[in-house]
Amino acid sequence: MEVNGSLKNLINYYHEDKLSHAYLIETNDIDKCLTELKYVLKNINCPHEYKDNCSNCNLCNLLNNNYLPSFIVIEPDGINIKKEQILDLKSRFSTMPLYTKENIYIIKEAEKLNQSSANTMLKFLEEPEDNILGFFLCYNANNVISTIASRCEIIKVYYKNNEDTIYNNEYFSNVYNYLRKIELEKKYGIMYNKSMLLNLYSEKEDYVNIFKLLLRIYYLALKNKESLTDMEFKNKFSFLLEKSTEELTRKLKIISAYLDDLNYNVNIELFLDKFVIELSEMNE
Ligand SMILES: [Zn+2]
Repeated sequence: MEVNGSLKNLINYYHEDKLSHAYLIETNDIDKCLTELKYVLKNINCPHEYKDNCSNCNLCNLLNNNYLPSFIVIEPDGINIKKEQILDLKSRFSTMPLYTKENIYIIKEAEKLNQSSANTMLKFLEEPEDNILGFFLCYNANNVISTIASRCEIIKVYYKNNEDTIYNNEYFSNVYNYLRKIELEKKYGIMYNKSMLLNLYSEKEDYVNIFKLLLRIYYLALKNKESLTDMEFKNKFSFLLEKSTEELTRKLKIISAYLDDLNYNVNIELFLDKFVIELSEMNE
């Protein structure tokens, strides 16, 4: 997994015993940042030698799904993070951590800590216990209540706009070649499922990523059809830009529905066959 450098550094600090007890992380993508932060925390706490997608390890699985008792993620309840949410955090962290080295909390959208929840929070920050580690994720550090911000080490984690990076996506070249085949050789599209995808990818997670990428490509096709802003897209995807807005919209809906279906147990081969057939029915 590619992880932002500033976040990755935390792993080194940890091993050098230089980790602060609280970090305020300013980012333009809180969800992505949270995923990467979890990667860092798994890396630090995994009882085995951590590998990407450490999947047979209980701790990594629990942490991934927010089920680890010593790991709590708080998000705003309505427009604020409420005092009760912080009180609950305090009571759950009143015991020593069991499976991780520290009790770890993450506050999403720390700007939404109001005066009373921040005051409750302060006790955590003023008496830094050795076994508590906190992260405040925010879009703008200047909007976080100063009593909190001043007690944290500040990190900035900026990501390039997602739309600029379809070309860097690890699936891009295979998905691109596949899409050209199924869009340009409509009649025989189905035969490319095996040779261009199934032979390469066997995990469901791969297909989730592939369908997410397809979704982004059709979305960009629609956007660039309205007003062409991305010349690289035009050069690569002229075969999509030729299509009508209606056709692109309908296909976008199909891809989105198939992406949802991947949440269920599906036979990938049948799933892809059905997808290609349905997609080509939409050709005008
Ligand atoms: Zn693990």
